Amino acid sequence: MAETIPHWLSKRAELSPDQTAIELPDGYHMTFLELASASQTFAKKLAENGVKEGSHIGILSNNSIDMVITIHALSYLGAVSVMLNTRLKEEELNYQVKDADVSFIIVSDEMENRIRKMKFPVSVLINTFSQIEQSTEKNTELKTEINIDNVFTIIYTSGTTGFPKGVMHTYGNHWWSAIGSALNLGLSENDKWLATLPIFHVGGLSIFIRSVIYGIPVYLLEKYDPALIHEAIMKKDVTIVSVVTIMLKELVQLLGNNHYPTAFRCMLLGGGPAPKPLLNQAKARRIPVFQSYGMTETSSQIVTLSPKNALEKIGSAGKPLFPAQLKIGNNKGEHVGEIYVKGPMVASGYYKNETATQKALRNGWLATGDLGYVDNEGFLYVVDRRNDLIISGGENIYPSEIESVLAGMEQIHEIGVVGKNDVKWGQVPVAFVVKNEEHVTSEDIVNYAKNALANYKIPKELYFVASLPKNASNKLLRNKLIERLEKRNK
Ligand code: ATP
Ligand code: MG
Repeated sequence: MAETIPHWLSKRAELSPDQTAIELPDGYHMTFLELASASQTFAKKLAENGVKEGSHIGILSNNSIDMVITIHALSYLGAVSVMLNTRLKEEELNYQVKDADVSFIIVSDEMENRIRKMKFPVSVLINTFSQIEQSTEKNTELKTEINIDNVFTIIYTSGTTGFPKGVMHTYGNHWWSAIGSALNLGLSENDKWLATLPIFHVGGLSIFIRSVIYGIPVYLLEKYDPALIHEAIMKKDVTIVSVVTIMLKELVQLLGNNHYPTAFRCMLLGGGPAPKPLLNQAKARRIPVFQSYGMTETSSQIVTLSPKNALEKIGSAGKPLFPAQLKIGNNKGEHVGEIYVKGPMVASGYYKNETATQKALRNGWLATGDLGYVDNEGFLYVVDRRNDLIISGGENIYPSEIESVLAGMEQIHEIGVVGKNDVKWGQVPVAFVVKNEEHVTSEDIVNYAKNALANYKIPKELYFVASLPKNASNKLLRNKLIERLEKRNK
């Protein structure tokens, strides 16, 4: 028999009706009872607009309460939320809408004009939050239970290594992700989790699911603003913030020589590599950074550094969460190999993409495409993506290591490293650099690198550029750098 649990938002509203569910910087609060009742009302209005059990509904919005209500409302109908990245261009959006069989896009009021100019298949309906809000409520039965094997969300991977793939997350995947995180970070009744990461990524969405399951408030930021995050930690009793590297960097700068209040207990860092110099700066300011490793397929973090090891294992992503397992698929004698993970938070596949699913998943183990190693105490160190490995004269070079070291140079704003074909060595590392200051030269950079890197890892060529190619998730596209190299060498 399928496993069911009570609908999580109804249950939470029953257990802690007056507890704050969402708080905004302007002081607006919404309780769990209010959130549940707003979501149920919205569900009936969506039903009036034709949304049914099993419908695939695109959501295109920046972070807002309306967006959170919509996601819960869809779950009351048993419909699937397809989370669309607001930074995508028309062609990219169209690809995901078609690929995920989206029949209806719900768009924030502010994005309506942009989206109405785009061409989607004629059968796709588009409506804004306000338009749906004005509908009447259909007298329809809402879900009182959740079947944990049902699909709740489809979220596309960032498309860093190729076309984005639609990851299907069940309710169970999200449930286990929340439980795994709580068993690692612990729960405190005074917790308040700040959400600034986009809800259309799993790292942002997962904060709202944890909030419902744990019964803690989310401090919601409608857009990323480091000054507002700083203020929320200093003055608004936020205890946990989820960030990506660039955010941590800006927060460290804002903090200066100050310290956060002791009640602030976790800066959960994920989404990509974190340069060691930055982690050291954060450590010097006693910021409780918890590095983590995860991906869309794992419904957010699956490996996280626990509080007691955070300082001595700097640079490590930690150990797999309680319900998860980890192994390194390395050849005999090799330290580094592909990272494999398994656990009930790992999605069971990509929507309508059996080939990719079979390639990535075998016996429940997900081949992540990332390289890493585990130290003798079981701590994971992520080194890089497998495809980006540079082999030079038989030595393995991980571009992330070079980027991480050189990111510590004040004059460098950003850096991307890729391999260039070389007659003698097979491949050599070359770097694309965005400068912070005009006067820095290639020689300065090479001299800096010499202090921290073996000779074969020192970039053999340096190109100063105005910006680095990124995708809609702000991730470095190394394959675009390789294309640039090829063009230069034609
Ligand atoms: P695509 O799968 O479409 O190529 P993507 O892998 O960038 O895109 P996401 O699911 O958003 O899509 O990102 C997950 C990836 O982010 C991981 O596979 C890994 O490469 C990187 N990553 C996450 N956490 C870390 C970490 N702690 N250190 C290094 N890399 C990380
Ligand atoms: Mg990926």
